[in-house]
Amino acid sequence: MTALAIDIGGTKFAAAVVRPDGSMERRTEVPVGSDPTATLASLVREVGAAGAAGVGIGSAGPLDVVAGTVSPVNIPAWRDFPLADAVRELVPGVPVALAGDAQCMALGEWWRGGHAASRALLGIVVSTGVGGGLVLDGVPYLGPTGNAGHIGHITVDRNGGLCPCGAIGCLETIASGPSMVRWALANGWSAPGGQPDARALAADAARGVPVARLAFQRTADALATAILTTAALFDIDDVVIGGGVSGAGDTLLAPLRQAVAKQAGLGFLHRLTVTRTALERDAGLYGAAALVLPGETRSPNRGS
Ligand SMILES: [Zn+2]
Repeated sequence: MTALAIDIGGTKFAAAVVRPDGSMERRTEVPVGSDPTATLASLVREVGAAGAAGVGIGSAGPLDVVAGTVSPVNIPAWRDFPLADAVRELVPGVPVALAGDAQCMALGEWWRGGHAASRALLGIVVSTGVGGGLVLDGVPYLGPTGNAGHIGHITVDRNGGLCPCGAIGCLETIASGPSMVRWALANGWSAPGGQPDARALAADAARGVPVARLAFQRTADALATAILTTAALFDIDDVVIGGGVSGAGDTLLAPLRQAVAKQAGLGFLHRLTVTRTALERDAGLYGAAALVLPGETRSPNRGS
């Protein structure tokens, strides 16, 4: 039994064949290109689905898992695109499951990232946006509309800025890569190499440039607030951080752990651990596969 796993990102599509023992084969990644539907078809053909028991898809949002449609922000050609139906046409006769990319990241980390002992895992993707996913008692909690885990739109600052979603002071207005860069630039930062992005900001923070360090501190404080809010509701014991901004490593993780420890109130909140993704971009593929590989057949990975 195998699963075909597909990861729909804003700039790249990836796919692989995943077995219940956690081995991954024929992993292939391609740029989205000008015709994403054709890119998807050629990717599925290239990786192949022969013998697959199902197809799991993790996609950048927004998405509607009930309708099986996606409208990834960075893929304007796909608005309410019937992704699940398109994949059903490419791979007929097997179950097709769709979830958000951060939900798949969380599930993949739980299964293959050494977090299978967690009873309540929160995965967070800090990138151009901030996404999240919950795995409760080993089961991904997607919610009735498939939108559970939208941690980027938890309000962390009632006096903060307007978020594109319409709410005030969302986590994403502070902690996403572009939000961090915008804040740093407004507070006197200039990128040494000329390219003002989150990577340059992380490099400056690691070098000790005060405004860059402050940008990461601000993000750490906001993330900690959102993490502890979620943890208080769901008794979260394990938090895994992925996404491009998490590539900063301890530049983000060290102030984040300190902020979590400082802000935590109730006793049960003090036991939660915060780690960086072990699987990087493969987490989403493992999670997508796990959507269609039955839990009783999957071997856990409690190592690392
Ligand atoms: Zn928002």
